[in-house]
Amino acid sequence: MSVFSHPEFSQHEQLNFFCDEQSGLKAIVAVHNTNRGPALGGCRMWNYRSDEEALRDVLRLSKGMTYKSALANIDLGGGKSVIIGDPRQHKSEALLEAMGRCLESMGDRYIAAEDSGTSVADLKVMSRHTGNVAGITERIGIDGKPCNGDPSPATAYGTFVGLQAAVKHKLGQQDLRGLRVAIQGVGNVGYRLAQHLAAAGAELYVTDIHQEQVARAVSELGAIEVGAEQILSLDVDVLAPCALGAVLNDVSIPQIKAKVVAGASNNQLASPEHDAMLREHGILYAPDYAINAGGIIDIFYERVGHDHRKVLAHIESISETLDEIFRRADLQDRPTGEIANELAEERFMAPETVSV
Ligand code: NAD
Repeated sequence: MSVFSHPEFSQHEQLNFFCDEQSGLKAIVAVHNTNRGPALGGCRMWNYRSDEEALRDVLRLSKGMTYKSALANIDLGGGKSVIIGDPRQHKSEALLEAMGRCLESMGDRYIAAEDSGTSVADLKVMSRHTGNVAGITERIGIDGKPCNGDPSPATAYGTFVGLQAAVKHKLGQQDLRGLRVAIQGVGNVGYRLAQHLAAAGAELYVTDIHQEQVARAVSELGAIEVGAEQILSLDVDVLAPCALGAVLNDVSIPQIKAKVVAGASNNQLASPEHDAMLREHGILYAPDYAINAGGIIDIFYERVGHDHRKVLAHIESISETLDEIFRRADLQDRPTGEIANELAEERFMAPETVSV
């Protein structure tokens, strides 16, 4: 298994491999970059088929966190951790405690948050041995009401303001009344995004693999139900992917009729060239990690003193970041994802190493 010559290595600062025989813990923690501050990223537990698969995942995801935090202008670096094992079979209190001790041994280089396969309760177990966990404190949410640490409301609100910025840029429309928006996935983030859009007078088209989620959006928000196969090619103004990754691909892009893609899903582009393909098709793409940064912004403020008004103002700055991306993309006739990466690099790299 190569490490320094791994295709995803990307100048990671630090990689830690942890093993605890008693609890069965096997984990990798990757710290990509700490120029802006300690690396923060989710702790994922997954039944990886091989160590190589786990390494690839942690390297890719930790680099993504550096870009996301830098673009969101928060003083955090990028990192990620993976625990190798099936969360339903192999997760135990002893394993989580062992993970907490491993995190503590890294000093303040990496802070873990909830991710696939781990919950707030799991992170609370880890926190018995370390302060290097985030997203576990009850606080006042962005709506001014108590919340349990779930970042979804913040992510949904950030996606809403980002969608507004994209619509204004592409369609010249500030008022969302009558705007037709197709939402793929009305779960934690998608449903809350739908609530914001419904309140602003948008016309909603929704799909989800869970019928009860769709039924709720139809009955409570007046959304129109659409089949899972139709959602991407619907004749609407905006497509908001809020379910899966890799939805923007060779097959879907030629079928997309929406002029704007603005949704919360991570890794929406199936591969980097789909960024340019969207531009060629006249579609404005709001880069996923720029528009869905509300959650990480919310978690950041937990570290520095939570004030929901400051969190709200910071989340609203997502629209300025997107404006800057859209402006540069037009000026240079380049795809928005590429510009987002460049802008993020300007924000975390030492000036002499930036490629522009
Ligand atoms: P979630 O699991 O609550 O919601 C996803 C919804 O999509 C579910 O209702 C699910 O049934 C539905 N779905 C799954 N496959 C589908 C398909 N093929 N077609 C239609 N619907 C489908 O997850 P979430 O927390 O709302 O996150 C949604 C996306 O946003 C994910 O990609 C996630 O990584 C990303 N994201 C979430 C946050 C956050 O704060 N929760 C932050 C950043 C990014």
